[in-house]
Amino acid sequence: MSARILLMAGDGVGDEICREAVRVLNALQKHHGLDIELDSALVGGAAYEAEGDPLPESSLARARAADAILFGAVGGPQWDTLDRPLRPESGLLRLRAELGLFANLRPAILYPQLAHASSLRHDVVAGLNIMIVRELTGGIYFGQPRALSAADGGAREAFNTMRYSEAEIQRIARAGFETAMQRSKRLCSVDKANVLEVSQLWREVVTEVGRDYPEVELSHMYVDNAAMQLVRSPKQFDTLVTGNLFGDILSDIAAMLTGSIGMLPSASLDEQGKGMYEPVHGSAPDIAGQGTVNPLAMILSVAMMLRYSLGRGDLAEKVEHAVGDALNRGLRTRDIMDDERQVASTDEMGGAVADMLQ
Ligand code: NAD
Repeated sequence: MSARILLMAGDGVGDEICREAVRVLNALQKHHGLDIELDSALVGGAAYEAEGDPLPESSLARARAADAILFGAVGGPQWDTLDRPLRPESGLLRLRAELGLFANLRPAILYPQLAHASSLRHDVVAGLNIMIVRELTGGIYFGQPRALSAADGGAREAFNTMRYSEAEIQRIARAGFETAMQRSKRLCSVDKANVLEVSQLWREVVTEVGRDYPEVELSHMYVDNAAMQLVRSPKQFDTLVTGNLFGDILSDIAAMLTGSIGMLPSASLDEQGKGMYEPVHGSAPDIAGQGTVNPLAMILSVAMMLRYSLGRGDLAEKVEHAVGDALNRGLRTRDIMDDERQVASTDEMGGAVADMLQ
């Protein structure tokens, strides 16, 4: 049966990057036997304008029915003054929560052709290929109780709760080990077990789950050291697994080692491996409609979808190679430009990748 893929382009540059993703999918269907059915649905500001809701019931139902979702980006200044539940970004957060997408996978890969874009020395980052697996639906961002209180006559006080159940740690640990199995079988779990009880449990449970994955070499690292090591010597890492708060911060550090936001894909997976795939960047309203947005983060998200939801790692590799080939040919959108080259448009970059797949 064909895999059902739902396209949710969203706002700003969403349409432009999704158009290039579809070109790549069409090339894979035509030349490599990929068997998919494409559907599309409104989300974000576009959905608010059409239906008064950034995640209409019909879009959510189509997302539930799909095998995988390709998500562009949402948001824009024209919606920033709406009540919070009506804002485009709330549609995205609701979608993640409704679909139970608890595991966020963010690779940080430095293409050798773009080594100049990193702020670190070439020898420190050349060949970098890290995957961060972040828990996305628990931890201190969701833990109860939480409050900001106006103390009577005294100083204000606020608190949040970092809380993880054994079951929550088990499933993200499994996602980490499964990801490591598809890579070089090295997993580093990041916590703060020297100070936090929640991290002590995290470390115990990750170690227990690790007994089911004897092939994977498991190590543990405190988060402060991990932040330091990511900047000092990032190539020591292959796959990292960590909680929501630590993962939020570490994945942004890792992403910036590569220097360009237009190159970074991501995946958010549920317990069955169904996923939503989206670029890390936002809707880039400052360049929307100009044909200059870099479509590679979206195209690399397609590659992640092929690998993690459709079981087609072979085609994922073809897409990743095609991206490398396009860069080898000297194509550069404005965000990854160096001095000597002509700027490629979104259409030229997407077309080059699709052509390589013929
Ligand atoms: P952004 O990522 O949209 O843009 C930051 C800067 O990077 C801009 O100058 C933009 O032009 C540039 N940029 C981003 N992606 C690029 C690409 N592929 N090619 C070339 N240049 C690129 O972040 P922002 O400006 O802080 O936010 C804009 C809107 O997007 C806001 O409404 C925000 O809430 C929303 N947002 C959405 C998501 C999402 O949908 N997942 C994520 C982040 C921000």
